[in-house]
Amino acid sequence: MIRSLNLENSAIAESEIQNRILSLFARSDKAIAAERDMDGYLEAIANEFLQTSKIGSDIALTDLNEQFTDYQIPIEPVDPNDYLNDLTETAIAHSVRTSSPRFIGHMTTALPYFVRPLAKLMTILNQNPVKTETAKSLTPYERQALATLHHLIYQLPDAFYIEHTHNPHSTLGMIVSGGTIANITALWCARNAALAPQADFMGVEQEGLAAALKFYGYDGAVVIGSSLMHFSFDKAADLLGIGTRSLIKIPANEKNQVDLRSLRQTIRDCRDRKQLILAIVGIAGTTDSGGIDPLLDMAEIAKNANIHFHVDAAWGGPMLFSQRHRYKLQGIEFADSVTIDGHKQLYLPMGIGMLFLHNPNLAKAIEKQAPYTVRQNSIDLGKRTLEGSRPATAILLQAGLKLIGMKGYEYLMDWGIEKTWYLATRIEAMPEFERLIDPEINIFLYRYIPEPYRHRAAIGQLTLAENQSINQFNQHLQKAQRQAGHTFISRTTTYTTRYGKNVPIIALRAVIANPLTTELDINAVLQDQLQIAADLSDNTSGSFLTQ
Ligand SMILES: *Cc1c(COP(=O)(O)O)cnc(C)c1O
Repeated sequence: MIRSLNLENSAIAESEIQNRILSLFARSDKAIAAERDMDGYLEAIANEFLQTSKIGSDIALTDLNEQFTDYQIPIEPVDPNDYLNDLTETAIAHSVRTSSPRFIGHMTTALPYFVRPLAKLMTILNQNPVKTETAKSLTPYERQALATLHHLIYQLPDAFYIEHTHNPHSTLGMIVSGGTIANITALWCARNAALAPQADFMGVEQEGLAAALKFYGYDGAVVIGSSLMHFSFDKAADLLGIGTRSLIKIPANEKNQVDLRSLRQTIRDCRDRKQLILAIVGIAGTTDSGGIDPLLDMAEIAKNANIHFHVDAAWGGPMLFSQRHRYKLQGIEFADSVTIDGHKQLYLPMGIGMLFLHNPNLAKAIEKQAPYTVRQNSIDLGKRTLEGSRPATAILLQAGLKLIGMKGYEYLMDWGIEKTWYLATRIEAMPEFERLIDPEINIFLYRYIPEPYRHRAAIGQLTLAENQSINQFNQHLQKAQRQAGHTFISRTTTYTTRYGKNVPIIALRAVIANPLTTELDINAVLQDQLQIAADLSDNTSGSFLTQ
């Protein structure tokens, strides 16, 4: 039985509660003044947050939990000043300064100033692009933004964009909350198109996966890509009912790319086993190491085999802006679907992923309606998206495209890659470190080699056991650096080094995407690591090194 709430001991009269709540919504002088106060307070906090050089506080994660243990909703509205003080001392005080030029380990980085006031505008307008009745102008505004990026990828003739940009039957792309949802949606479209209605059979959408595979005579369905596919594909395989074991991961080669011979062989094997291949996934910038699959070859293989070709360009897509580097993505223009994250290398805030579709009719395979909202002949965007209600982030996307522009994004891409090569070159010159990859884009992997191993590392003769203790050392190094909070590099485990597929190597992972990161900052990050490594070696009196 559901128990009744005990709100009896409220000290405030009900009429006072009413007044306070209505004053939160009203456009009265008092409410406007209160909003201005809060704005002013937060602006000061924001400036301090963005200007402090330290990346994070050194509080331990478990101690931080202690600050967030109360599970009672306050009975009466809390005073805004008390609320703000608490927010400042807890959530804000221990937030990570992802905008720091010395935070060069993740795909989350600094933002241009204009997104902050525009994000506020987005909230003020509070449009909901699920349907035109709540997003009249933001619907075509979003479709325009998607058409421009579709054009960047596919370069189709003007007539194509004139016909499809605002055609309610066409879907050139969709804005979703992130790359994960974009990848899931791509495979969802591919699945429904591959198992479409035919004759009396109503298709996988209505009949379900088991019936669809049976109707078409398949023993299961798979998705094929390299072992470096983002883990969102595991989520997709699970959700689409094929199971994560049917996500076939071909071991990546030393260039962090899918091996084409294995890909061709895997396709033949699947066909022999009567498995439906829902899609082949190419990666344009692996999350792990920045590797780029041979997209042109993959596109040809997919075309010849009549298989959906999806390119996950969540990170690397904006390289299309660079005259110097866009050739690396050659073949992306033949992809049936492409994922690009706006909240990565378009320098927009969290919550902006995108999926682009070569065939404007493909998304009809996932279309749904509802009598009270998203109607059949409408242009309502919600009928062909996984998400329902969502923020009108097209405001931010259009701002980025206009205020940064082709040349601006080209500059951002080129400089990120140039600085990554600076780091790679520094690492090459320092005996303390080992370079693990040649950077393809602005992601770089390297590791620290403790002194006793340097000679054997230099001649490439480390044993598995030696690599394991070097791994342990690097894991401690990365954690200690993060905990100290002055500089930041992330860490990953790679199987694609010169030590071979069976030797996991813990790598330090640099992602150099902040335009304000200078060579001095990069040097400071390395200096920090040398210092921490020296301390670690002393404190453990070499215990890592003698195992
Ligand atoms: C970041 C990333 C994703 C996932 O995107 P989210 O926005 O985090 O959901 C997928 N694929 C690649 C290659 C990525 O780098």
